[in-house]
Amino acid sequence: MDANEAIRRFRQRDDGYTWEGVDRLAYKQESAAPFRGITRQTLFQRSDLAGELRYFEIAPRGHSTLERHEHTHAVLILRGEGRCLVGDAVHAIRAHDLVTVPPQTWHQFRAGEEPLGFLCMVDALRDRPELPDDAALAELHAQPPVAAFLAEE
Ligand code: MN
Repeated sequence: MDANEAIRRFRQRDDGYTWEGVDRLAYKQESAAPFRGITRQTLFQRSDLAGELRYFEIAPRGHSTLERHEHTHAVLILRGEGRCLVGDAVHAIRAHDLVTVPPQTWHQFRAGEEPLGFLCMVDALRDRPELPDDAALAELHAQPPVAAFLAEE
């Protein structure tokens, strides 16, 4: 169904984090970007809005891709707990925390022992993510808290 058509969408009753008429998709089309246990639902995407609102859910111990890009992420944690890397800092996150990922900042989200679900607002027109090359990875691993975060499986 076209996300532009419905004025109101009902939350499905099974788990509270899926919506009627909203497809639950793989996180990314490209298989080149490493990630684990994450789905994506686009909640709002309209030609008369400059932004999009998506809901991501990371399974226990899963993680998003380590990446950076020019566009900003505005994130509201909705369920669960975990940690995120933003730049050179690792933050504990839990339901209702807000996380801003500024432009060109390395970032990754990791779920703890329960699903980590969050809303993420982005520009509708945005650049593609960049993955770290060997030099960038070496720079990240030079910082002990970041290295410990990235080393976790
Ligand atoms: Mn990103």
